[in-house]
Amino acid sequence: MPASSGQLTDCVVLLGPELAPFNCSRFAWSADTITATDCIGPATTIDSGARVVIPGLYNGHTHMGDSALPDGATGLTLEEAFFRPAGYKYRELARLTPDTHLPHLEAHLRYMARTGTVCHLDFREQGPAGAELLRAASINTGVESIILNQFNESPFAEADLRANRPGHALPPAHRAELERMLSVADGFSESTMNDLTDAAWAEIRALTASKGKLRAIHCLENAGYRELSLATTGRGDLARALELYDPHLVVHLTVADADEIALLVRSEKTAAINPRANANLGLPLPPVAALLRAGANLLLGTDNGMLNSPNLLAELDFTYKVAKSQFADALSPDPAAILKMATSNIRPVLGGDHHGALAVGLPATFVVLDFTKGHLRHSRHIVASVVTRVTPDDVLATYRLGRPLYQTADLF
Ligand SMILES: [Zn+2]
Repeated sequence: MPASSGQLTDCVVLLGPELAPFNCSRFAWSADTITATDCIGPATTIDSGARVVIPGLYNGHTHMGDSALPDGATGLTLEEAFFRPAGYKYRELARLTPDTHLPHLEAHLRYMARTGTVCHLDFREQGPAGAELLRAASINTGVESIILNQFNESPFAEADLRANRPGHALPPAHRAELERMLSVADGFSESTMNDLTDAAWAEIRALTASKGKLRAIHCLENAGYRELSLATTGRGDLARALELYDPHLVVHLTVADADEIALLVRSEKTAAINPRANANLGLPLPPVAALLRAGANLLLGTDNGMLNSPNLLAELDFTYKVAKSQFADALSPDPAAILKMATSNIRPVLGGDHHGALAVGLPATFVVLDFTKGHLRHSRHIVASVVTRVTPDDVLATYRLGRPLYQTADLF
């Protein structure tokens, strides 16, 4: 459906990057831009139901390629399920043709829209062909895929990686694959810093920078990432990533210690945490409270389609409660700090028309929630209820740049 004009009357709107709730007599948009937020005053509570407008949600880390295999990792270790070349995921993905794979991607992107998500940052495996497939699903569904492409096969043998010889850059065939990936994708990603040589990281950093592309990497998902990097190079994987690769986005930090959290914050890089995926793999929960206390800019991801539904509403609820338990004082964090992880914290990473915030003149990228339902209509704290009580059934519409990606008959 194309972008068009529209308006909602007598609603609550979470305004600006701080997501402050306001009672508004009118929220209007024309084409791809918000044209009015006629506010009456701040709103903390709802007395007898309202529609609540929030920014469209950003999923900071996904692998939708394996959404074709829901719960396929059940009973497998991280290595058995996910690692190249022989992990379950790679064996099964190799069996799919583009024609049999694409419908899975589209179905899960539509589910994202149905659950309030307008954009996701995806580590897309299978080289340029994998990127092209996700690009097609994104175009067909209207959900924006920021594609961070991975090599189809590892460029280096294990012995070469451990030797990490100076000057051992990408083999010519992989250099050519990298060029092709960057012609389709929005950037580059790799599973861990241990999967390439230092020379290859420097090469990839230079080429992505010259083309204005994004760089992302998993770090510290478990202690093995750090230990192998230390054994190979004398530096942990996060320090190595920041020094060699200069990533825009660091994913996981599940086992980050105080020094590593301080290092991340000093670097001013954004991190995407994935609490449900970590839990599902039997890993520790990420140090959400310590990261928030240190002032890290955080995104939330649902990680592999194989592990989790790409439903950020569930991730918000889980993360809020994990964070409260870690803060251990019942007062922290402010629920808005959790909702920012799926909205306005995206701005430093993507820029452009990605604000994750609502205001006149900003993109008409928003979600309308039905707070007239019995379980929401008397909310005593609107933002806390958005974070912890809204379910997919409570989403009335998801718009990106004025275009409805999902809309129920009850919206207007
Ligand atoms: Zn991942």
